[in-house]
Amino acid sequence: MRTTTVRFAPSPTGRIHVGNARTALFNYLFARRHAGRFVLRFDDTDAQRSTLEFAQAIEVDLSWLGIEPDLIVRQSDRFAHYQAAADRLRAMGRLYPCFETPDELDRRRKRQAARGLPPIYDRAALKLTEAERQELIAQGRKPHWRFLLDHRTVSWDDLVRGPSHIDCASLSDPILVREDGTWLYTLPSVVDDVELAITHVIRGEDHVTNTAVQIQLFELLSDAEHVPAFGHHNLLTDITGEGLSKRTGALSIGSLRDAGIESLAVCAFSVLTGSSDAVHPVGSLTQLLGQFDISHTSKGAARFDPAELRTLSARTLHQLDFESVRDRLAAHDMAGYKAEAFWNAVRGNLSAFLDVMTWWRVVEGEIEPVITEADYLATAKTLLPEEPWTTQTFGEWTTALKTGTGRKGKALFHPLRLALTGLDHGPELAQILPLIGRIKAMGRLS
Ligand code: GLU
Repeated sequence: MRTTTVRFAPSPTGRIHVGNARTALFNYLFARRHAGRFVLRFDDTDAQRSTLEFAQAIEVDLSWLGIEPDLIVRQSDRFAHYQAAADRLRAMGRLYPCFETPDELDRRRKRQAARGLPPIYDRAALKLTEAERQELIAQGRKPHWRFLLDHRTVSWDDLVRGPSHIDCASLSDPILVREDGTWLYTLPSVVDDVELAITHVIRGEDHVTNTAVQIQLFELLSDAEHVPAFGHHNLLTDITGEGLSKRTGALSIGSLRDAGIESLAVCAFSVLTGSSDAVHPVGSLTQLLGQFDISHTSKGAARFDPAELRTLSARTLHQLDFESVRDRLAAHDMAGYKAEAFWNAVRGNLSAFLDVMTWWRVVEGEIEPVITEADYLATAKTLLPEEPWTTQTFGEWTTALKTGTGRKGKALFHPLRLALTGLDHGPELAQILPLIGRIKAMGRLS
């Protein structure tokens, strides 16, 4: 049995968005489920559009999502492997030179359309004699190279879509190498999947047709039992149903992070959007794994609503335990013996993580108390219990105040909140009063 090995293969030509995160997480969770390996492969054969900065940003974004690859490879380091594979295909008579210009191909497609024929490449280049080829080369034409498809039906049992098949007679022979010698995506992907022993190819359903072609390549370039399994998940769209694009930067992982969205909310939302159940907040990727089943993802479109994501992000924060935020709090100097009780007191009031800074200032720093009724607050001050304080203290104090002043409800509580926190809303005072402590409380009531 081979170790389950998956790959996420972005081209570093932009920042990844939630749709890419969906693919990455489907792969990552699948690998986790099967105690497997996750490879990050940069499809950077397009030297013009790929950049190192985008590749680095993708690594940062994945790491923020909680994905640490077991291996990172770059296609730009592997051209010799693609060359060797192309040579093998040539030797098998399965890669043939073509000389048509884009214009010629276009005119041919129009003629086919006029006659009601599908726009499939007619393999005219196969009929060229060696002399004709040499003649074209002498005229300065450079060939591009097409893969000679076997005109049969290719079938696979898709991990998401179930039994699937494509009749390759309905496809044009795909171009694998451009006339300038650069690689299109199709062949390098297969060469890497073979050499990196990828067992499961999980990607968006925009690749279904490629799969038929690539299965033929796998069969030629590896042994039949090493053809990977394939799964094609549905694509996320934006709320209007438009596909997401790396170019526009819309819903990019980086922009969501900058907007203060929780990474676990992005993970849950990008994995579970389009599944039949409502998306509930998760406390860890392990918990998300428990809700993920690749064979149960929906086949229809999955619309991604950023407003729902914001709500889910807040709900995610509300249930995060202290351990999972300890380091993030410490990174903002919120640490020490109070930190855990503090987190538990305030998390339910946060819309974004950095809102905690406001509440840390309330318990640890200086605030501007809002004094509305000085006399009442003076009475309150005289009735403040002695320390040690617990979460019961506030109840004891306000019971005494109620008896002493006859106040109740908002009139009893609200002036206390304004004075103690400087704010008119927030976590339960019973929770934060012990964290503020008697000395600070006395000062703020004066
Ligand atoms: N670079 C391709 C893409 O981003 C990879 C597709 C695949 O997973 O094979 O669409």
